[in-house]
Amino acid sequence: MCDCIFCKIANHEIPSTVVYEDDQVIAFDDLNPQAPVHTLVIPKKHYSDIADNVPAETMGAMAHAIQEVAKAKGLEDGFRVISNKGVNAGQTVMHFHMHILGGKNLGENLI
Ligand code: 5GP
Ligand code: ZN
Repeated sequence: MCDCIFCKIANHEIPSTVVYEDDQVIAFDDLNPQAPVHTLVIPKKHYSDIADNVPAETMGAMAHAIQEVAKAKGLEDGFRVISNKGVNAGQTVMHFHMHILGGKNLGENLI
């Protein structure tokens, strides 16, 4: 039994606000949004982070999902994509995910 919260979201075992889903990836709104739009994209298969030998096909599916989220959320004025890996980046959920942030001017500073 997997104890990973994002695996459970991918399997619809715990609820989330789904923005986009296909056979490889799912995108859902962050529980604690840091911007007017804050959506997470994850592969349904478990990888611990972006450096965990994620296949190119999965990365392509993630990129497609980001485009679908941008359309669904009306992010034509721009958005930011972030993926935290490991302690120095402050990763808290050890299932690879990309943050999509937008809905306001985010400024020029990354951090
Ligand atoms: P990290 O710091 O690992 O890059 O980001 C993890 C993100 O997952 C955080 O922004 C946090 O708010 C979000 N998160 C953690 N648990 C849940 C959950 O159960 N549901 C949703 N929708 N988001 C979550
Ligand atoms: Zn997982």
